[in-house]
Amino acid sequence: MEHAFHKTIGSEATKLEYLAPRMDQPSDELLASGQLLAYKLQQTLNIEVLLTTFCEQASLIVPCQSVAFRNDEQQLFVYHGEKHENLCRYSLAIEEQVLGEIECSSHKSFSETDLIRLEHLISILLFPLRNALMYSEAIQNAQRDPLTGLANRYAFDHAMDTEISRSERHRHNLCMLVVDIDHFKRINDTYGHLAGDEVLRQVASLLGNAVRKEDRVFRYGGEEFVVLLSATDLPSARLTAERIRMELEATKITALGIEIDVTASLGISEWQVGESGNTFFHRADQALYNAKDQGRNQVRAA
Ligand code: GH3
Ligand code: MG
Ligand code: MG
Repeated sequence: MEHAFHKTIGSEATKLEYLAPRMDQPSDELLASGQLLAYKLQQTLNIEVLLTTFCEQASLIVPCQSVAFRNDEQQLFVYHGEKHENLCRYSLAIEEQVLGEIECSSHKSFSETDLIRLEHLISILLFPLRNALMYSEAIQNAQRDPLTGLANRYAFDHAMDTEISRSERHRHNLCMLVVDIDHFKRINDTYGHLAGDEVLRQVASLLGNAVRKEDRVFRYGGEEFVVLLSATDLPSARLTAERIRMELEATKITALGIEIDVTASLGISEWQVGESGNTFFHRADQALYNAKDQGRNQVRAA
Protein backbone atom coordinates (compact mmCIF):
# COMPACT_ATOMS: atom_id res chain seq x y z
CA MET A 1 0.00 0.00 0.00
CA GLU A 2 1.33 3.43 -0.90
CA HIS A 3 1.55 6.23 1.62
CA ALA A 4 1.82 9.46 -0.26
CA PHE A 5 3.76 12.25 1.41
CA HIS A 6 4.06 15.64 -0.18
CA LYS A 7 6.84 17.36 1.63
CA THR A 8 7.17 21.11 1.88
CA ILE A 9 10.08 22.65 3.71
CA GLY A 10 9.98 26.42 4.00
CA SER A 11 7.61 27.50 1.29
CA GLU A 12 5.28 25.91 -1.23
CA ALA A 13 7.89 26.56 -3.93
CA THR A 14 10.12 23.76 -2.65
CA LYS A 15 7.42 21.13 -2.65
CA LEU A 16 8.70 17.60 -3.13
CA GLU A 17 6.73 14.46 -3.61
CA TYR A 18 7.54 10.85 -3.08
CA LEU A 19 5.64 7.73 -2.19
CA ALA A 20 7.32 5.95 0.67
CA PRO A 21 9.47 6.78 3.68
CA ARG A 22 13.04 7.07 2.50
CA MET A 23 14.54 4.38 4.64
CA ASP A 24 15.73 0.88 3.87
CA GLN A 25 16.89 -0.15 7.32
CA PRO A 26 15.89 1.98 10.31
CA SER A 27 18.42 2.02 13.17
CA ASP A 28 17.61 -0.01 16.30
CA GLU A 29 16.91 3.20 18.19
CA LEU A 30 14.46 4.45 15.55
CA LEU A 31 12.83 1.04 15.31
CA ALA A 32 12.29 0.95 19.10
CA SER A 33 10.90 4.52 19.08
CA GLY A 34 8.59 3.60 16.23
CA GLN A 35 7.30 0.54 18.06
CA LEU A 36 6.64 2.51 21.22
CA LEU A 37 4.91 5.22 19.18
CA ALA A 38 2.72 2.64 17.40
CA TYR A 39 1.79 1.08 20.75
CA LYS A 40 0.81 4.46 22.21
CA LEU A 41 -1.07 5.67 19.13
CA GLN A 42 -3.29 2.61 18.97
CA GLN A 43 -4.69 3.45 22.41
CA THR A 44 -6.80 6.39 21.28
CA LEU A 45 -9.21 7.58 18.60
CA ASN A 46 -9.02 11.15 19.85
CA ILE A 47 -7.13 13.34 17.37
CA GLU A 48 -5.84 15.78 20.03
CA VAL A 49 -4.44 12.92 22.11
CA LEU A 50 -2.98 11.33 18.99
CA LEU A 51 -1.11 14.50 17.98
CA THR A 52 0.08 15.18 21.52
CA THR A 53 1.42 11.64 21.80
CA PHE A 54 3.07 11.94 18.41
CA CYS A 55 4.77 15.22 19.31
CA GLU A 56 5.98 13.93 22.69
CA GLN A 57 7.42 10.74 21.22
CA ALA A 58 8.91 12.40 18.14
CA SER A 59 10.62 15.06 20.25
CA LEU A 60 12.61 12.30 21.99
CA ILE A 61 14.53 11.51 18.82
CA VAL A 62 14.20 14.52 16.51
CA PRO A 63 14.01 18.27 17.16
CA CYS A 64 10.25 18.74 17.19
CA GLN A 65 8.70 21.30 19.57
CA SER A 66 5.27 21.51 18.05
CA VAL A 67 2.93 19.63 15.77
CA ALA A 68 -0.07 21.14 14.00
CA PHE A 69 -2.57 19.20 11.94
CA ARG A 70 -5.39 20.45 9.75
CA ASN A 71 -8.11 18.74 7.80
CA ASP A 72 -10.21 21.23 5.85
CA GLU A 73 -13.01 18.83 5.02
CA GLN A 74 -13.81 18.31 8.70
CA GLN A 75 -12.82 21.90 9.58
CA LEU A 76 -10.34 20.49 12.01
CA PHE A 77 -7.25 22.23 13.35
CA VAL A 78 -5.30 20.57 16.16
CA TYR A 79 -2.18 21.99 17.70
CA HIS A 80 0.31 20.81 20.31
CA GLY A 81 3.44 22.50 21.64
CA GLU A 82 5.06 25.86 21.06
CA LYS A 83 5.65 26.86 17.45
CA HIS A 84 9.24 27.68 16.41
CA GLU A 85 10.68 29.23 13.26
CA ASN A 86 11.94 26.06 11.51
CA LEU A 87 9.08 24.25 9.85
CA CYS A 88 8.51 21.14 7.85
CA ARG A 89 5.13 20.31 6.45
CA TYR A 90 3.66 17.20 4.85
CA SER A 91 0.42 16.49 3.05
CA LEU A 92 -0.75 13.11 4.27
CA ALA A 93 -2.69 10.58 2.25
CA ILE A 94 -3.31 6.85 2.19
CA GLU A 95 -3.80 5.85 -1.42
CA GLU A 96 -6.51 8.25 -2.71
CA GLN A 97 -7.71 9.26 0.76
CA VAL A 98 -6.39 12.68 1.74
CA LEU A 99 -5.92 12.94 5.50
CA GLY A 100 -4.74 16.54 5.81
CA GLU A 101 -1.58 18.47 6.42
CA ILE A 102 0.84 18.12 9.30
CA GLU A 103 3.41 20.74 10.28
CA CYS A 104 6.26 20.20 12.73
CA SER A 105 8.38 23.03 14.08
CA SER A 106 11.74 23.18 15.77
CA HIS A 107 14.07 25.77 17.35
CA LYS A 108 16.93 24.40 15.22
CA SER A 109 16.83 23.61 11.54
CA PHE A 110 15.96 20.08 10.45
CA SER A 111 18.89 18.09 9.10
CA GLU A 112 18.33 15.53 6.37
CA THR A 113 18.69 12.76 8.97
CA ASP A 114 16.08 14.46 11.18
CA LEU A 115 13.66 14.55 8.27
CA ILE A 116 14.19 10.91 7.39
CA ARG A 117 13.53 9.95 11.02
CA LEU A 118 10.49 12.21 11.24
CA GLU A 119 9.08 10.73 8.05
CA HIS A 120 9.49 7.25 9.49
CA LEU A 121 7.47 8.30 12.55
CA ILE A 122 4.84 10.06 10.42
CA SER A 123 4.37 6.85 8.44
CA ILE A 124 3.47 5.18 11.76
CA LEU A 125 0.99 7.97 12.52
CA LEU A 126 -0.88 7.60 9.20
CA PHE A 127 -3.21 4.69 9.97
CA PRO A 128 -4.12 5.67 13.54
CA LEU A 129 -4.78 9.18 12.20
CA ARG A 130 -6.98 7.82 9.40
CA ASN A 131 -8.97 5.79 11.97
CA ALA A 132 -9.36 8.80 14.27
CA LEU A 133 -10.57 10.96 11.37
CA MET A 134 -13.13 8.35 10.34
CA TYR A 135 -14.31 8.11 13.95
CA SER A 136 -14.66 11.88 14.32
CA GLU A 137 -16.56 12.07 11.01
CA ALA A 138 -18.93 9.32 12.18
CA ILE A 139 -19.54 11.20 15.45
CA GLN A 140 -20.19 14.45 13.55
CA ASN A 141 -22.62 12.73 11.19
CA ALA A 142 -24.47 11.08 14.07
CA GLN A 143 -25.17 14.56 15.45
CA ARG A 144 -26.30 16.16 12.19
CA ASP A 145 -29.69 16.14 10.51
CA PRO A 146 -29.03 15.20 6.88
CA LEU A 147 -31.97 17.16 5.44
CA THR A 148 -31.20 20.58 6.88
CA GLY A 149 -27.57 20.20 7.95
CA LEU A 150 -28.54 21.37 11.45
CA ALA A 151 -27.52 19.62 14.64
CA ASN A 152 -30.11 16.97 15.51
CA ARG A 153 -31.96 15.95 18.65
CA TYR A 154 -29.11 13.74 19.86
CA ALA A 155 -26.78 16.75 19.65
CA PHE A 156 -29.42 18.89 21.38
CA ASP A 157 -29.55 16.58 24.42
CA HIS A 158 -25.78 16.89 24.83
CA ALA A 159 -25.73 20.63 24.14
CA MET A 160 -28.46 21.32 26.67
CA ASP A 161 -26.52 19.60 29.46
CA THR A 162 -23.39 21.56 28.51
CA GLU A 163 -25.25 24.88 28.29
CA ILE A 164 -26.97 24.32 31.65
CA SER A 165 -23.63 23.53 33.33
CA ARG A 166 -22.07 26.64 31.75
CA SER A 167 -24.95 28.87 32.85
CA GLU A 168 -24.75 27.45 36.36
CA ARG A 169 -21.00 28.07 36.52
CA HIS A 170 -21.05 31.61 35.11
CA ARG A 171 -24.46 32.54 36.58
CA HIS A 172 -25.73 33.42 33.10
CA ASN A 173 -29.34 33.39 31.95
CA LEU A 174 -30.21 30.74 29.41
CA CYS A 175 -33.32 30.67 27.22
CA MET A 176 -34.83 28.18 24.83
CA LEU A 177 -37.13 28.68 21.87
CA VAL A 178 -39.20 25.84 20.47
CA VAL A 179 -40.28 26.70 16.92
CA ASP A 180 -42.97 24.67 15.16
CA ILE A 181 -44.14 25.37 11.61
CA ASP A 182 -47.89 25.99 11.43
CA HIS A 183 -50.05 23.56 9.45
CA PHE A 184 -47.01 21.99 7.88
CA LYS A 185 -48.98 18.89 7.00
CA ARG A 186 -51.08 21.05 4.66
CA ILE A 187 -47.91 22.16 2.86
CA ASN A 188 -46.98 18.52 2.27
CA ASP A 189 -50.51 17.62 1.26
CA THR A 190 -50.85 20.58 -1.12
CA TYR A 191 -47.39 20.80 -2.72
CA GLY A 192 -45.90 17.37 -2.03
CA HIS A 193 -43.19 16.05 0.30
CA LEU A 194 -40.29 17.34 -1.77
CA ALA A 195 -41.62 20.89 -1.53
CA GLY A 196 -42.12 20.27 2.21
CA ASP A 197 -38.48 19.19 2.50
CA GLU A 198 -37.36 22.38 0.75
CA VAL A 199 -39.46 24.48 3.14
CA LEU A 200 -37.75 22.73 6.07
CA ARG A 201 -34.31 23.49 4.61
CA GLN A 202 -35.14 27.15 4.11
CA VAL A 203 -36.71 27.59 7.54
CA ALA A 204 -33.57 25.98 9.04
CA SER A 205 -31.39 28.42 7.13
CA LEU A 206 -33.52 31.41 8.19
CA LEU A 207 -33.26 30.34 11.85
CA GLY A 208 -29.49 29.95 11.59
CA ASN A 209 -29.18 33.47 10.16
CA ALA A 210 -31.57 35.02 12.66
CA VAL A 211 -29.53 34.24 15.80
CA ARG A 212 -26.07 35.15 17.10
CA LYS A 213 -23.19 32.84 16.30
CA GLU A 214 -22.94 31.71 19.94
CA ASP A 215 -26.59 30.57 19.87
CA ARG A 216 -27.34 27.07 18.63
CA VAL A 217 -30.14 25.84 16.38
CA PHE A 218 -31.29 22.22 16.27
CA ARG A 219 -33.82 20.25 14.28
CA TYR A 220 -35.64 18.57 17.12
CA GLY A 221 -37.72 16.40 14.78
CA GLY A 222 -40.28 16.75 11.96
CA GLU A 223 -41.11 20.43 11.54
CA GLU A 224 -39.97 21.40 15.02
CA PHE A 225 -36.75 23.29 15.80
CA VAL A 226 -35.10 24.35 19.05
CA VAL A 227 -32.85 27.35 19.62
CA LEU A 228 -30.64 27.65 22.70
CA LEU A 229 -29.91 31.30 23.50
CA SER A 230 -26.94 31.49 25.81
CA ALA A 231 -26.41 34.43 28.18
CA THR A 232 -29.89 35.71 27.26
CA ASP A 233 -32.70 36.78 29.58
CA LEU A 234 -36.42 36.37 28.94
CA PRO A 235 -37.12 39.87 27.51
CA SER A 236 -34.28 39.48 24.98
CA ALA A 237 -35.45 35.97 24.10
CA ARG A 238 -38.95 37.37 23.45
CA LEU A 239 -37.49 39.95 21.06
CA THR A 240 -35.53 37.25 19.21
CA ALA A 241 -38.58 34.98 19.02
CA GLU A 242 -40.79 37.79 17.76
CA ARG A 243 -38.17 38.75 15.15
CA ILE A 244 -38.03 35.15 13.91
CA ARG A 245 -41.82 34.93 13.78
CA MET A 246 -42.10 38.17 11.78
CA GLU A 247 -39.26 37.24 9.44
CA LEU A 248 -40.87 33.89 8.64
CA GLU A 249 -44.23 35.55 8.05
CA ALA A 250 -42.66 38.11 5.70
CA THR A 251 -40.50 35.63 3.75
CA LYS A 252 -41.84 34.07 0.58
CA ILE A 253 -40.36 30.60 0.48
CA THR A 254 -39.88 29.30 -3.04
CA ALA A 255 -39.92 25.53 -3.22
CA LEU A 256 -39.91 23.69 -6.57
CA GLY A 257 -40.74 26.99 -8.24
CA ILE A 258 -43.83 27.60 -6.08
CA GLU A 259 -44.09 30.46 -3.60
CA ILE A 260 -45.29 29.15 -0.26
CA ASP A 261 -46.40 31.21 2.74
CA VAL A 262 -45.05 29.84 6.00
CA THR A 263 -45.71 30.85 9.59
CA ALA A 264 -44.57 29.31 12.84
CA SER A 265 -45.55 29.32 16.50
CA LEU A 266 -42.89 29.72 19.16
CA GLY A 267 -42.67 28.75 22.83
CA ILE A 268 -40.05 30.25 25.15
CA SER A 269 -38.69 29.17 28.51
CA GLU A 270 -35.94 30.64 30.67
CA TRP A 271 -33.87 28.16 32.61
CA GLN A 272 -34.42 28.29 36.38
CA VAL A 273 -31.60 27.46 38.78
CA GLY A 274 -31.63 23.76 39.65
CA GLU A 275 -34.06 22.88 36.85
CA SER A 276 -33.45 19.73 34.78
CA GLY A 277 -33.05 19.92 31.01
CA ASN A 278 -36.24 17.92 30.58
CA THR A 279 -38.37 20.34 32.59
CA PHE A 280 -36.72 23.32 30.89
CA PHE A 281 -37.70 21.87 27.49
CA HIS A 282 -41.14 20.76 28.64
CA ARG A 283 -42.02 24.33 29.72
CA ALA A 284 -41.02 25.78 26.34
CA ASP A 285 -43.01 23.03 24.60
CA GLN A 286 -46.03 23.82 26.78
CA ALA A 287 -45.72 27.51 25.84
CA LEU A 288 -45.66 26.43 22.19
CA TYR A 289 -48.94 24.54 22.68
CA ASN A 290 -50.45 27.71 24.13
CA ALA A 291 -49.31 29.64 21.04
CA LYS A 292 -50.96 26.99 18.83
CA ASP A 293 -54.15 27.05 20.92
CA GLN A 294 -54.36 30.82 20.71
CA GLY A 295 -54.39 30.88 16.93
CA ARG A 296 -50.82 30.02 15.74
CA ASN A 297 -48.26 32.45 14.28
CA GLN A 298 -47.67 33.66 17.86
CA VAL A 299 -45.00 33.73 20.54
CA ARG A 300 -45.75 32.60 24.09
CA ALA A 301 -43.50 32.30 27.11
CA ALA A 302 -43.74 29.74 29.91
P1 GH3 B 1 -49.56 22.39 13.71
O1 GH3 B 1 -49.79 23.78 13.20
O2 GH3 B 1 -50.52 22.03 14.78
O3 GH3 B 1 -48.15 22.20 14.15
O4 GH3 B 1 -49.85 21.40 12.51
P2 GH3 B 1 -48.82 20.64 11.58
O5 GH3 B 1 -49.53 20.20 10.37
O6 GH3 B 1 -47.62 21.49 11.37
O7 GH3 B 1 -48.39 19.44 12.52
P3 GH3 B 1 -48.59 17.89 12.37
O8 GH3 B 1 -47.85 17.30 13.54
O9 GH3 B 1 -50.02 17.54 12.19
O10 GH3 B 1 -47.85 17.50 11.01
C1 GH3 B 1 -46.47 17.59 10.88
C2 GH3 B 1 -46.15 17.02 9.52
O11 GH3 B 1 -44.74 17.11 9.25
C3 GH3 B 1 -46.49 15.55 9.40
C4 GH3 B 1 -45.24 14.91 8.81
O12 GH3 B 1 -45.53 14.07 7.75
C5 GH3 B 1 -44.41 16.09 8.34
N1 GH3 B 1 -42.99 15.84 8.36
C6 GH3 B 1 -42.21 15.42 9.39
N2 GH3 B 1 -40.93 15.31 9.00
C7 GH3 B 1 -40.89 15.67 7.68
C8 GH3 B 1 -39.84 15.75 6.70
O13 GH3 B 1 -38.66 15.48 6.98
N3 GH3 B 1 -40.16 16.17 5.46
C9 GH3 B 1 -41.44 16.48 5.13
N4 GH3 B 1 -41.70 16.91 3.90
N5 GH3 B 1 -42.44 16.39 6.02
C10 GH3 B 1 -42.19 16.00 7.27
MG1 MG C 1 -46.45 22.07 13.03
MG1 MG D 1 -44.88 19.59 15.30
